[in-house]
Formats: sequence, C-alpha cells, structure tokens
Amino acid sequence: METIRLPRVMMDTAWKERLHGKGIGLVPTMGALHEGHLSLIRAARAENDMVVASIFVNPMQFAPGEDLEKYPRDMAADMEKLKAADVDILFAPEAASMYPKDFSTSVSVRGISGRLCGAFRPGHFDGVATVVLKLFNIVQPARAYFGLKDYQQTLVIRKMAKDLDLSLEIVLCPTQREADGLAMSSRNAYLSGSERAAAPVLYRALREGAAAIRDGERKTAPVREKIHSVLRSEPLVNGIQYASAYDPESLEEPEKIKGNSVLLAAAIRIGACRLIDNLILNDLK
Ligand code: AMP
Repeated sequence: METIRLPRVMMDTAWKERLHGKGIGLVPTMGALHEGHLSLIRAARAENDMVVASIFVNPMQFAPGEDLEKYPRDMAADMEKLKAADVDILFAPEAASMYPKDFSTSVSVRGISGRLCGAFRPGHFDGVATVVLKLFNIVQPARAYFGLKDYQQTLVIRKMAKDLDLSLEIVLCPTQREADGLAMSSRNAYLSGSERAAAPVLYRALREGAAAIRDGERKTAPVREKIHSVLRSEPLVNGIQYASAYDPESLEEPEKIKGNSVLLAAAIRIGACRLIDNLILNDLK
C-alpha cells in the first residue's frame, strides 16, 4: 500500500491510473477504523480496479466546541487494517494542504443540510459537502462508498452529485453493528463501561418505533412517543436531540407516514458522547 500526503501527488497518481483505464473506488473516512469502514472497503475492492481510502479529520465539518481536538486518531493501527484489506493507496492529507490560508470556498446543499443533525451542528454538512467534493476532484473515483449509518450525509452527497453533475457513482452500504445492536462508530470509544452498556437503547428505541409502524401505525406522533419513551427509560440518556419518523428524501417530519418507505432516525447524548442511528423501512403497504 502506498501512502500519499499531498493532494497534488494524489491527483497526478489518479490521472495516470485513469489514463491506463483503471477505475478507482474511493472510501472517505476520518480514521479510527472499525468494521463499518472495512465493510465499505470490501465493497470498493469487489467493484473497482483500484481502491483509495482517505483518512482526514476534516476541521471544516466540526462546529466550534465540538470534538475536533479529541477525535480518536490511530494512524499506525489504521494503516495495518488498510493493508490487510488490500487497499492500494491511503490518501492522508494534512489540514494545511487541504485548506491553505487563503481557502474561501464552501459547498452548501440547501434545505436538507439544515434538518436533523444539521439543526444541532451548524455548518456541519457544508463542511462535509466541501471536503467530499475536494476528495472527488483529487481522487477522481468512478465510485465512492458511504455508510447508511450517516443517512443524512448520504442524502447531502447524493444531492450535491446530482446538482453539480458529478460523474461518479455513489454507493451506499448498510450499517454495521455490534452484537448488541449498537451501530459501530469511532466515537463509541468515548463511552465509559456503563455508558457502553446503556448505548444499545438507541437501536432498541428505533426498532420499537419500526415495530409500531409494521403493526399498522401511520400517525407520526405515537411512533415518536414510542421511541422517546424507550429512550427515556434509560437513565444514562441525558439528552434527545431528535428522534422520530421522517420522510426519507426531504427529512421532514410528516403528520402521517405516507408512501412505502420511512426513515426512523435519532440523535441522543449518553454522558459526553453524541450518538446517532437510523433505520429505513421499505415496502410499507
Ligand atoms: P467516518 O470515519 O465516521 O467519517 O465514516 C467514514 C465512512 O464510514 C462514512 O461513509 C460512514 O457512514 C461510514 N461508516 C461509519 N460507521 C459505519 C457503520 N457502523 N456501518 C457502515 N458504515 C459506517
């Protein structure tokens, strides 16, 4: 595995590979790699001539006061995992080379970026869209892989790709979970032992909401109440930012669930850790 630090070098390398007819699969990450990331890499490996994984803790997507400084970083362990997963190139730029002092551009996908997580993390999705567009331009992938764990992020990126006529395929991969249902996340490392034991309540709450819908409930209020009541039953949950049923395209919370699919999504706090999760129900009658 080759490691490239400079965007210019990554861009030249990608151009050469493309000229030789190689299709590149890109897996953007912030590192502290776990099985969720590795599932994206396996999907990329299966579908592309060459796999580029990026590790970049993107300062632009952290709001002031968030966990940019203490975000888990373990480059040595990550490199071992990427090598074992047969990644061809690790692209790990420095912040200064991605955002030189005179950097002044931002990509904003209006509407959906302000809902759900966007309402609690101002500027977050502009930071995501901007860095992802930069990564697309630098790596020039035929396909890029994203996890449904960050459902809103996948919507923002798909909308950006459509609006800006990006010529690549955005591939979405299912959420990887621990045995007790907790969605894998680099931030789970922040949880203490008792907090970790409490954390599966998030998935459980979403599943109970889903069960109510499967049982025929179509009004959003009782579904929301079900999810909240499960979350409130766990004393270590010290904040519910949002938790309800949403339209999977607009992310609006409807009065009644219509159509054949619905998104159940929530963001909560356990201790100092913010956890998000979601479930998508398709094939509703
Ligand atoms: P991150 O390093 O957290 O920015 O995540 C990098 C990519 O991995 C994003 O596309 C995430 O959605 C994806 N990802 C993170 N956690 C999981 C998971 N548990 N299952 C599947 N994909 C994930």
